[in-house]
Amino acid sequence: VNKQEKIILIGELLLSYYGKTKTESRDPIEELVTTILSQNTNDGNRDRAYRCLIDRFGSLEKVAKASANEIAQAIKVGGLHNQKSLRIKNLLTQVMRQRGSLDMSFLAGLPLQEAMNWLLSFTGVGKKTAGIVMLFSFNQPYFPVDTHIKRVTKRLGIVGSTEDPHNRMNDLLPPNPEVMQQLHMHLIRLGREICHPSKPDCVNCPLVEHCPSSTKP
Ligand code: SF4
Repeated sequence: VNKQEKIILIGELLLSYYGKTKTESRDPIEELVTTILSQNTNDGNRDRAYRCLIDRFGSLEKVAKASANEIAQAIKVGGLHNQKSLRIKNLLTQVMRQRGSLDMSFLAGLPLQEAMNWLLSFTGVGKKTAGIVMLFSFNQPYFPVDTHIKRVTKRLGIVGSTEDPHNRMNDLLPPNPEVMQQLHMHLIRLGREICHPSKPDCVNCPLVEHCPSSTKP
């Protein structure tokens, strides 16, 4: 099988192993702010910091009007609050300036690459975040790669060590948002639960027969 067939097969194996997973989508601007808050921390702290932000200001529109210093005070719980507050302030100010509001629904009407480029123009927003917004908030076919997916797809021999994982995965996958959403969530789950950074649990991996890095004796 070639790599295109292999990634489709892997998607099918994971789908039957984990079952169809419910997708969650946030409002696009909330997704971007949450991503900035998630840098260098875990999901629990990220969510706590977001709640503190909304409890303190009431809405992201009001956060946009606050100073970076006030934002920093509200998000202390997540760490790196000074850097993150500047990024959040910069993002919200720029979106307000360009669009007149924080409504990003216009992205649904743009060609995918144009929408991606618009999102990527903000400091702190990379392909993963922009891809999550396009795939989960807008149901558009862009496959986002996080740290787990990067590690797992490398071990599986899908993405070469010098290749850009986003470019590679998006070249290989059919442009089907539902397939991409399921694969995205299942590869992350596999990375968290089985294909750990050190000591992957290959004996219990549903992909063991297809993995050149398997440590199963
Ligand atoms: S067989 Fe091992 S290395 Fe390969 S994907 Fe599964 S857990 Fe990871």
